[in-house]
Amino acid sequence: MVHDAHFHTDEYAFLAFLAQHQIQGIVNASSSQEYLRLSAWQKQLEGIQISAGIHPWNSDRISWEEMRPILEQAAIIGEIGLDNVWCDVDVLKQFEIFERQLAYASKHHKPVILHLKGMEKEALPSVRKYQNQYFIHWYSCDAYLDEYIALDCYFSVGPSIYKDRAVQQVAKSVPLNRLLLESDGISALSWCENRQVQTSEYLALMKRSVAYIEALKGHRNMEAHLNQNLMNFINYTKNN
Ligand SMILES: [Zn+2]
Repeated sequence: MVHDAHFHTDEYAFLAFLAQHQIQGIVNASSSQEYLRLSAWQKQLEGIQISAGIHPWNSDRISWEEMRPILEQAAIIGEIGLDNVWCDVDVLKQFEIFERQLAYASKHHKPVILHLKGMEKEALPSVRKYQNQYFIHWYSCDAYLDEYIALDCYFSVGPSIYKDRAVQQVAKSVPLNRLLLESDGISALSWCENRQVQTSEYLALMKRSVAYIEALKGHRNMEAHLNQNLMNFINYTKNN
């Protein structure tokens, strides 16, 4: 079965759908309210972990003090990062919030999910500075991939793999034991397909991504490999 290493949802029905299909995954909470809502839902479901962090888009709206109690509860920190393409939040503010969360996660041995868009080069020194286990979600930059591979990061293949050469390059270049799969949620799938995607289409779209990864890697039984990688990433805290 496929997994979903990074996604968003505000619908219990979607989480229940994943649990019903024994799909393991990491759902993202970008505010304290979202974390509390997802936590209440998660207690009733198997196989879903929660990551929490201040998204770069929210760096000027959610304070470190406000989010810190949530980071203390969360086993996985993210998605956090830097973005100068899809938001116009002041970059210095983004850096300040990013670095505080990186420092916190490193100190407490909590693995981190990174969102990097247009700032892949600028984020490198920060990621190098704070020793940790990183997972870069939907990496889609055609440069600096080797630098992040050298840092032993995990990478999730985004649902645009069928049409995006940078995402195909991730599947090709990243070692087999560092690859993950993600949808980023139904709205991201819809964005990617240019139409409203229904939950009933989710499995087929995720399996399409797996088929692309298998073809690019020349390796079969990919779902089992990917699932093992997700378990290893999640268990980082327990082993460190
Ligand atoms: Zn996301």
